[in-house]
Parts: sequence; C-alpha cells; structure tokens
Amino acid sequence: MTNHERYDELISIYSLGALDENQLKEIEEHLKGGCGVCEEMLKENEKVLSLIPYSIPSATPFPRVKEKLFKKIRATKQIEEKTFAPTFWERLQPLWLRLGSAVALALLIILFAFNLSLRDKLKEQEIVISSLKEQVTNQSEIMNSLRTQLATKEVNLNNLKEQIARQSTMMEFLQNPEVVTINLAGLKQDSQAYGRVLWDKKYNKALFYGLNLPPIPSGKIYQLWVIADNTPISMGIFDVDERGNNIIQVANIPDPSKVQKFAVTLEPAGGVPQPTGEMYLISAS
Ligand SMILES: [Zn+2]
Repeated sequence: MTNHERYDELISIYSLGALDENQLKEIEEHLKGGCGVCEEMLKENEKVLSLIPYSIPSATPFPRVKEKLFKKIRATKQIEEKTFAPTFWERLQPLWLRLGSAVALALLIILFAFNLSLRDKLKEQEIVISSLKEQVTNQSEIMNSLRTQLATKEVNLNNLKEQIARQSTMMEFLQNPEVVTINLAGLKQDSQAYGRVLWDKKYNKALFYGLNLPPIPSGKIYQLWVIADNTPISMGIFDVDERGNNIIQVANIPDPSKVQKFAVTLEPAGGVPQPTGEMYLISAS
C-alpha cells in the first residue's frame, strides 16, 4: 500500500469521528500539508454523512474492532480494484457507497457498536422484567399466605363467638334462680374429672359440662345419661377438647320427679341406645 492509501482509510474513519489519538494527529498533519485529494474526499464523506437520516451516537469502536475494520477495508478495496472497473462500480453503487466503501464499513462497525449497546439495554430490561416477575410471584405467595392466615383468624373468630355464646348461655343459667346444680363426681381413681348439670326445671332445659375428662380413645365417644324410673335414657354424646372439657346443651329431660341420677359412660362412636361401656361420672342424686 502506498502512503496515500493509508490516508484514504484514515479520512473515512476521521469523517465518523472514530480515529484514535495517534491516527487523528497523523491525518490532521497530512491535511495541514494541503493534500487536495484528501480534502476532496473529506468533503464528499461529510456530504454522505449529512444524508444519513438519523444521528449516530458517538460510539468509538474498541481497538480490536477498529483493527478488524481496517483489515476489512483493505480486503474490500483489493476485491473492488480487482473485480470491478471504477465506472461500472460507480454506476451500481448508491451515492454514499460510491464515495467510499471504507465509510460504509466504518458506518457498519459503528452501527454494530450501537446495536450492541441496544442489545445491552435490552438485556438490562429483560433482567428488570424477570426481577419484576419474580417480585409479582413473591407478592402472590405473600397474598396466599395472608389469605390462609385470614381464613385461620376467621375460624378462630368463629370459635371465639361460639365460646362467648356458650358462656352467655351459662351466665343466664347461673343467674336464673330456678336453676338447680347437680354435681357429677369422677369414678376413676386419681381422676380430676368432674361434671355439672345446670338444670332449669321450669323450662326443662339444661347445660351439662364435663371437665378434666380423660382423652377419648379412637372409635369411642362420651355419652350422657339420665336415669329416670331406674331406666337410663340417652341425653346425647360429646367429645372433649385437649384439656378434657366440653359443654353441651341438654333438652327433653324426663319429668324432674322421675329423674334419679345423671351419668357419663364411654361408648362406641355414634353412641348407643343403652349404656354398655365404662362409667366415668355419676351424680349423687
Ligand atoms: Zn492526502
């Protein structure tokens, strides 16, 4: 390559503002020398660049990219010179390519760099989006957990309401002077279990509560009995909580004059018509 071919290359890159410091110094010194060919080429390159419909960001290719660019320019120039007569080439190329494939290649490289930076931005955006998606997933997990917690609280609230309702019924019973209290004693040795019947004889309704009863074995249930006229009559079945307690409402108690005792037995689940199991509680009268 002659010395001036090198300036051809540099002028093309110079037009795009992509020269490094040394190359810049070199071309500027050459231009100061008043080279007509280079001045003409520079003017034409500027014309070409003014035709580009959008502005190109001031991206400087990496040194290695620039080195490749120079190699490509050289290769292209050689092919052009070998393959095409200048007039034929001139007729075929659009204006801006006619003015120098070096410019076109440099432009391509810069657009490529610009494209890379767009790809980087795209990647950043994709990362942001996937992080947002993750956040949304986390949020819905939190929402689900909150819903579960809320459902649990609602169940607790309903349990509390039920307990309050029972307490109020008990309070009414306790405040009612018509109500008699019948105590049931535990029959097992060392048993802390006891029971109590609050019986409103006037309206013939009662509350039974059992306390400290042993846990119920699987397939069994406690059953409350009234013994009237020497015959046991079922007043209902009940389970107990973890402390062995429960309160149940009792209705349809036989005529008070016939009632002799209250008792609790452990029976097969679902209850039985006549007591069959062990007795846990019994009243004195
Ligand atoms: Zn020159």
